[in-house]
Amino acid sequence: MSGSKSWEQGGCLCGKVRYAIDRGGIAGQAHCHCRDCQRATGSAFATFCFVPDASFRADQGEAKGFTVQGTSGGSVTRFFCPDCGAQLYSEVAVMPGVRFVKSGSLDDASWMEPQAVFWCDTAQPWVAMPDGLAEHATNPG
Ligand SMILES: [Zn+2]
Ligand SMILES: [Zn+2]
Repeated sequence: MSGSKSWEQGGCLCGKVRYAIDRGGIAGQAHCHCRDCQRATGSAFATFCFVPDASFRADQGEAKGFTVQGTSGGSVTRFFCPDCGAQLYSEVAVMPGVRFVKSGSLDDASWMEPQAVFWCDTAQPWVAMPDGLAEHATNPG
């Protein structure tokens, strides 16, 4: 049925914070290998969906934000569960109205198809780049 929403649910490790995103509204998907994503996730890179406000639904609990100055000059706020610390999504000042939802917080992220890789310049040398994706040295554009 055209126009129907297809909600995918997600949440933190302890279950306190829950949200849902409408798959039909997703504006893009990417991996980011910047140093801030490496530190914030405690891993080699972050993978996320670009979710417009209209396609994001806060279902339960309240995420806490931590803001840093992004490399482009604007602020980046990463939201996480105040109890378990699990990363949920980010908001970027230069792209208002969009949340960058972390793939690992989705209950099922197997449907995702990331199209791009950001910050290849700071990717760890032991991480293999997937074939066929648009690779950007830093942020795109
Ligand atoms: Zn939690
Ligand atoms: Zn990043």
